[in-house]
Amino acid sequence: MNPNDAAIGRTLIPAAKIRDRIAGLAHRISDDYAGGGLLALTVLRGGFVFGADLIRQMDPEIAVQVDFLRASSYGDRTTSAGRVDVAHPPPVEDRDVLIVEDIVDTGRTLESLQERIRNHGARSLRTVTLLDKEGRADRRCTLDYVGFRIPDLFVVGYGLDYAQMYRHLPDIHVLDHGPRPEESP
Ligand code: 5GP
Repeated sequence: MNPNDAAIGRTLIPAAKIRDRIAGLAHRISDDYAGGGLLALTVLRGGFVFGADLIRQMDPEIAVQVDFLRASSYGDRTTSAGRVDVAHPPPVEDRDVLIVEDIVDTGRTLESLQERIRNHGARSLRTVTLLDKEGRADRRCTLDYVGFRIPDLFVVGYGLDYAQMYRHLPDIHVLDHGPRPEESP
């Protein structure tokens, strides 16, 4: 699909709802890691807004460190690429790792990331995703914390892009296919 053929559609999850849900997730995660620490590995680029909001809602007593994983993305397409490259994976040996993901669709990206982290000697591994697309029964990845379960729609905003656009939107929107209104005949 050409980037010009897409437009922002209806709001699926408004910013206030995202904020409330993240507070709940951060609370649960803080309980689970109470008395210890964690290395939050945010999956770039889509997870950067979620990761930044999530860690700032965590209990200040927890020793939180941050790093980033760079996985391959969809490019300008809206179907899964099915391949995952990780550039410069950070050291995770003997660390309690929390992968911070924006959205899980087929689960292939996450499955591959989880395998790498486990193989590199992490002491423990959990995963939080803001969005989980419903109806994917054949996944082999593990999700420990889920923000919202959503239908199988392509969404943008709150860090999520289409052709590198729309990451800055505070709400999560459905992407509409078809010409933008101003381009209609
Ligand atoms: P999976 O490997 O689970 O099929 O795909 C996960 C990755 O695909 C996500 O990290 C994200 O980069 C991208 N992705 C999957 N669904 C969507 C979507 O609805 N919107 C956007 N912007 N990216 C998506």
